[in-house]
Amino acid sequence: MRSELKRELIFLVLQFLEEENYKEAIHKLERESGCFLNTNHLEELVLSGQWEEVERYLLAFTKAGDNNNSAKIFFEIQKQKYLEALDSRDLGKAVKILSEELRIFAVAWEDEYKELNDLLTKNDFREHAQFASYTTAKTERMVLMTQLKMLFEENPLLCDKLRFPIFNNSRLRNLISQSLSWQHMVCHNRHPGLAPTLLMDHDCRRNLQRKELEGLNLIHEEGWRLTEINGTTQFRSLILPSCILIDKIAMLVYTNSANGILLLAENGIHQVWKWSSTPLNSEGKV
Ligand code: ZN
Repeated sequence: MRSELKRELIFLVLQFLEEENYKEAIHKLERESGCFLNTNHLEELVLSGQWEEVERYLLAFTKAGDNNNSAKIFFEIQKQKYLEALDSRDLGKAVKILSEELRIFAVAWEDEYKELNDLLTKNDFREHAQFASYTTAKTERMVLMTQLKMLFEENPLLCDKLRFPIFNNSRLRNLISQSLSWQHMVCHNRHPGLAPTLLMDHDCRRNLQRKELEGLNLIHEEGWRLTEINGTTQFRSLILPSCILIDKIAMLVYTNSANGILLLAENGIHQVWKWSSTPLNSEGKV
């Protein structure tokens, strides 16, 4: 499949998952396909401080080493984590973030890294002029998110993954429905009222055959597969009761509604046998 078609198919599936409310699957597919960076989802993660998830989600789209912009994205996230740890007086956590996660930026942004390092010596990091305006984690996370959105727009790896294309609701369902209708239109042996399946190309004749076999209990419901016939014990015979004398049968056909068998004898006599409902055949169809 061409890559553009594959990309479009992923959007159709994402829309389907959204309409069916498969919440985790949506974001997993966004990540695994790398087709759509869902800023609304990311915003929820940032505002609720789920930093591990924030990084995991973003890493599906870019890494800090990709370009300066990507490095800045991860730096700002780590910085926010660090400031929150300082603000909650969790010095151990702050040191860990500084020495493990912010460390990789120490060379590229030496001054900024040094500033952050200096904050460890302050009683309240707001004493540092650069951070005097820091209010609460909640407000600062919102500021961070605004900054991240701007960085995403400027990042050549991300800018074309930020918008979900506009198309009609239930597009995948409608495409399938159109396909089924078209396949039925070109059916050689059109038959009304048969339940379609998506698991194979539609063909009324095959559906009819399947229904016949269901009546004979030769189909495993769970697998939708025909049972191979290996012996005569699997055959079933059917006696159609008749009190009319018929020498030779010219034609034996199913009725259009699939609820009986119609017989035409060579002498012109017609006879119909109607099916009745049984536990194995609740619709009473042939
Ligand atoms: Zn058909």
